[in-house]
Formats: sequence, structure tokens, C-alpha cells
Amino acid sequence: MAGGWAKDGAVSEQIEASISDELARMKQHRGPVGESFTECAECGEEIPEARRKAIPGVKLCIDCQNARDHRYKPRGGINRRGSKDSQLK
Ligand SMILES: [Zn+2]
Repeated sequence: MAGGWAKDGAVSEQIEASISDELARMKQHRGPVGESFTECAECGEEIPEARRKAIPGVKLCIDCQNARDHRYKPRGGINRRGSKDSQLK
């Protein structure tokens, strides 16, 4: 049946349209996220222009970023210990 073919084509066209629609939406979402803050989101300290240019979308000053990085380190240590155990076995 020729009618069946036409129907299939219409459905795949709709799927392609929704995918490009989704991609366009994702790009719109990335815009605001990628913008650098002029002031630190945590302490309100001004972020130097050089830092903003070096790290697109930066939201923290150097001090707050360092504090955040150190907070994540203990978790990495636990993971490292786990992989060491599996290497011994
Ligand atoms: Zn800060």
C-alpha cells in the first residue's frame, strides 16, 4: 500500500524535526550557563577579568574555587584506595 509509505515518511520527518528542536533548546540553555560572573557566586568578591577570560562560565573567585576543590579531594582518596585493592587482587 502506497498510503503506508507516506505515513512512515511523515513520522520520521516529525522525529527529525523534534530532534533539531531539542538541539536548538539545548543551545539556548548553554548560553546563560556559559556566561562568566563578574562577582563570585559564593562570597561576592569581584572576579578578575583575566580569570573570567581564562575560564569561560566561571562563577567563583579563586579562593572559593580552591576551597571547593579541596572539599572534593577526600572522596577521590576513597576511590583511589578502592582501585588499589582491586589491583592487589
Ligand atoms: Zn568567592
